[in-house]
Amino acid sequence: MSGSKTFLQDVNSMFQEAADLISMEEGLATKIMVANSTYITRFGVRLRGRMHTFEGWRSVHSNHPSPAKGGIRYASYANLDEVEALAALMTYKCALMDIPFGGSKGALKIDPKEWTQDELERITRRFTQELVRHEFLTPSLNVPAPDVGTNETTMMWMADEYRRQRPTDINGSACVTGKPLAAGGIEGRIEATGRGVQYSIQAFFESEIDRAKTKLPNTLKGATVVVQGLGNVGYHAAKFLSEEDGCRIVSVIERDGVVRNPDGLNIEELKQHIIQTGGVRGFDGGVHSLDATDALADECDILIPAALEGVITEDNAPYLRTKLIVEAANGPMTFKANEILRKLGVVVIPDLFANAGGVTVSYFEWVKNLTHIPFGLMERRRDEMGHRVLAQSLERMTGNQFPEDGATAFLQGAREIDLVRSGLDDKMRSAYAEMSNLWNTNDRIPDLRTAAYIIAVRRIAGIYKALGI
Ligand code: GLU
Repeated sequence: MSGSKTFLQDVNSMFQEAADLISMEEGLATKIMVANSTYITRFGVRLRGRMHTFEGWRSVHSNHPSPAKGGIRYASYANLDEVEALAALMTYKCALMDIPFGGSKGALKIDPKEWTQDELERITRRFTQELVRHEFLTPSLNVPAPDVGTNETTMMWMADEYRRQRPTDINGSACVTGKPLAAGGIEGRIEATGRGVQYSIQAFFESEIDRAKTKLPNTLKGATVVVQGLGNVGYHAAKFLSEEDGCRIVSVIERDGVVRNPDGLNIEELKQHIIQTGGVRGFDGGVHSLDATDALADECDILIPAALEGVITEDNAPYLRTKLIVEAANGPMTFKANEILRKLGVVVIPDLFANAGGVTVSYFEWVKNLTHIPFGLMERRRDEMGHRVLAQSLERMTGNQFPEDGATAFLQGAREIDLVRSGLDDKMRSAYAEMSNLWNTNDRIPDLRTAAYIIAVRRIAGIYKALGI
């Protein structure tokens, strides 16, 4: 965890630093900062011949706009402070990305590795019953998604249990996102957070003014990268950066140590090794060492913490040897560490933005579920019709046959995955431009994180104002 301050206190300090730079009516900042409500449940499941009691939380940090959105994690270390901090981050993340969701987060205090699939299904279904009963899981009010320790199968169990509880809800499949494709999911949701990390780094590299602050060259090709955590987010980010942008992933830090290769690790092979053996030890495409803690300070161009919160603290921040930190995890850096790194001139692409790819594609999935129309079909139809009308009128006017134009042909042939990726790319690029512009045009804004919070808080304050609250 994060030393003397809790995770929630750190998130609140980051919020406060930005809120102090915005003029808001008195008392509004506090209202925006605190969680609206947090539900605690303790329920029993009879397993392995006896009753087991489980503890879970679902915190709604904000719910205008509704639904409140955010993942549910399964972890033995889960606690209330963490859930509320993560829920707050969801509010700010959605506001920054201009996605019409409030913020929420949930957790179940459980080590998923200790239970079989069948047992996990029973536990998840019981947890879901409690959440649905208290309106903490419904398409209109509160929509969970995968997070640490959960995946598309967990979401499918939740969606199915919701359907059993509320069989007449025609929008039932929108009660969670991150579902398998066959159960109402969307192409590209699994890769989405890692894909968003890639797009966020690309956007940073394309901004000459921001890149100049790090003295990094103007290409990602050959850039050295250290990744902490090769879970869903870290794996996809590392894979895309190495396979598509030519980055060299020189160190991967996992629970059982670090594996290094100065020429670049083969991420796909390493991931397979982790799946088969449970760790990075014994991987023959690099050199393994047990000391994972020090590896965060490995020299690199880009450091990507993609595991848990509070890993960069005032204790290790002064020793990091990187130019750019990209927060693929939620809250990987404490408030104090952030201050130290700022003074050292290390640029940080903040979590609110860097890992927003997941919730952005969740939004696409939710919209797809609510419309009951395959994603992109409307756009394709509209374009096809527009094209036909235009072609016909031009043909009438000129007497010539109007050729198909490239853009129309592309849209008509586009697959769901292409539409998802281009939609995400568009969202990431516009949010980056907004953040970067604010940072570079206002001397009082010290970093991208503060700029991100300011954009988010202004947007939320605007909603309060419009609602007359
Ligand atoms: N758990 C992810 C996050 O922290 C995704 C949340 C969502 O898709 O609702 O952003």
